[in-house]
Amino acid sequence: VTPSPAQVLEADLTWTGDAFERGVRVEVGADGRIAALHRTVANDVPVRRLPGRALLPGLVDVHSHAFQRGLRGRGETFPEGAGSFWTWREAMYALVERLEAEEFRALCLQAFRELRAAGVTSLGEFHYFHHGKSGVDFAYDELVLAAAAEAGLRLVLLNTYYRTGGIGQPLAGGQRRFATPSPAAYWEQMDRLASRLAPPLQSLGAVVHSLRAASLADLEAVFAESRRRGLVFHMHVEEQRKEIEDCLAAYGKTPMALVNERLEVSERFTSVHCTHSAPEDMDRYGAAGGNVCLCPLTEANLGDGIADVPRMRAAGAGLCIGTDSNARLSILEEMRWMEYAQRLGSESRGVLRAGPEGEVARTVFRAATEGGARALGLAVGRIAAGCWADFLAVDLAAPALAGWTEETLLDALVFGAGNEALAATAVGGEWVERLNPGEAGFSRRNS
Ligand SMILES: [Zn+2]
Repeated sequence: VTPSPAQVLEADLTWTGDAFERGVRVEVGADGRIAALHRTVANDVPVRRLPGRALLPGLVDVHSHAFQRGLRGRGETFPEGAGSFWTWREAMYALVERLEAEEFRALCLQAFRELRAAGVTSLGEFHYFHHGKSGVDFAYDELVLAAAAEAGLRLVLLNTYYRTGGIGQPLAGGQRRFATPSPAAYWEQMDRLASRLAPPLQSLGAVVHSLRAASLADLEAVFAESRRRGLVFHMHVEEQRKEIEDCLAAYGKTPMALVNERLEVSERFTSVHCTHSAPEDMDRYGAAGGNVCLCPLTEANLGDGIADVPRMRAAGAGLCIGTDSNARLSILEEMRWMEYAQRLGSESRGVLRAGPEGEVARTVFRAATEGGARALGLAVGRIAAGCWADFLAVDLAAPALAGWTEETLLDALVFGAGNEALAATAVGGEWVERLNPGEAGFSRRNS
């Protein structure tokens, strides 16, 4: 890999954290990081103009299970009227039982390319599908790394510990392909993966799938080692009421209460969903600095319920966004549904408003950029010196944005536009033009 040359970018508009500004020149170093922002400077480095485009930080998808892209258009009929999360899970397990390595890799690549076309430059892949059909071989872990490298995404491989098929129950059927036999075996594989990463684009995070998938002792052991290694830690928490009921029956406590009591929550801890978390549990979790990853489209598709996001914000939890089941890959849509679910649940508008002017788009855009960066432990999500040069270029001539002004552009994008308004993305200063309809593949354009 040759380092990308230094470049100075100037788009018509640049998002500098609070507003779009004109005349901002973004200097990108050969190391793929933003070196400086210049507003009034004569540079001897030639400026690369991005006419008709607005430059924003690339979007961060904190939570994905790429292989579930293979369920697209499936599991959406309900002949018995009995559709639930748990019947969806059966459809997912059927996919798991039949998948072979080549199809698994192809599904990852498909999802990752679609994510890039949806403006995503950093991804947290919550990866628990470890093995081929023949047994515990961890053969699929490196397939994820390879697919992400091919799509050019910055990847945090959230490698997942998964040992039980329910509290105190053995793995069954397709779940055996998720198996991590012990914390020691898990960390051995993490060491092996650490030597297979393609830095600086790839890094590791530690994960216990959920309290359904590990004993408390294993959870504590995996978490303690993740702290020792300075890794971010993620876990599914309280997406479904049944998980809470099972946990209460087994331990006399909710999953979130156990997290608060047993683990050292910090801004490097991310709980995914928290759809049914008790307010007092969330208060304690948020006060400790924990993140909550919301996956609005998946939570709607699976009929999970509506999370108490205002309580999360009041508690001080960091908010971020994931695409989870990848039933639809659009962060713009995830952002607007983060607010819309709250509107439908509360019969009011502007639930996630921020600042004196009550802006909603800013809250959800921060979740999809700075909030995601925090949850993944990455220097991304802002156009600022020291951050990676990961950008999203928006097409200011996109029909969906017609009528925009500097003041309304972010709202128009978040509430009115789809992926077609996204012109290109850069990861570490390497640009990829968005896939055009009818084009056979992605054109890679180096500066
Ligand atoms: Zn998930």
